[in-house]
Amino acid sequence: MGIAENVAAIRAELPSTVTLIAVSKTRPAADVREALATGQVNFGENYAQELRDKAEEIGAGPRWHFIGSLQRNKVKYVVGRAALIHDVDSLALAEEIGKRSGDAATGILIGVNFGEEQKSGIPVGQVLEFARQLAGVSGVALRGLMAIPPPSEDPEAAAPYFAELAALAAKGRADGLPLHELSMGMSHDWRVAIRHGATLVRVGSAIFGARPAKAPI
Ligand SMILES: *Cc1c(COP(=O)(O)O)cnc(C)c1O
Repeated sequence: MGIAENVAAIRAELPSTVTLIAVSKTRPAADVREALATGQVNFGENYAQELRDKAEEIGAGPRWHFIGSLQRNKVKYVVGRAALIHDVDSLALAEEIGKRSGDAATGILIGVNFGEEQKSGIPVGQVLEFARQLAGVSGVALRGLMAIPPPSEDPEAAAPYFAELAALAAKGRADGLPLHELSMGMSHDWRVAIRHGATLVRVGSAIFGARPAKAPI
């Protein structure tokens, strides 16, 4: 199937409460344009310069999401181009985003870590305290949480993690924190994520096909 058919097939299954983010990392602008032509608006990138370059090349149309781990010295490529930065995991990063955003606050999500030491993200037990700290950072607007469960062949293995993220956001909202968005679910487990309350699903290879191998940055 082609890009248009893949987008249509996924959209047909999405509840109206869920936004599909087409993850176009490593894909050429032509692929983004093909998806755009079907009415797909939200796109995800996780390399800062790649987002900048594609946004410049394509111009108006896409609503970009930065979904990778962002280094502070690369914030300048992303602010002003991304509608939402998904994986904010330090106060210093949030402050840099805020500083570059000025009055037009940038939407951010907190990247949550489920106890995997080698991964980035705020540990589950510290997320709500971090969310409270973010309220004091000007130029950023906290909108919710994002996570990637530990990898597994079985999509259902992600279910307890998705449930935990949803429960954490609900607890935060009960405390008055603006944790309305849940960015969770990828090509192999987006259906499971939706069952557990995802509002944003990030789907790459199921739309654009398998990615060429690329060295992690
Ligand atoms: C690449 C990527 C995705 C999409 O992955 P697929 O398995 O191709 O759908 C989603 N989220 C993040 C953070 C990614 O880096």
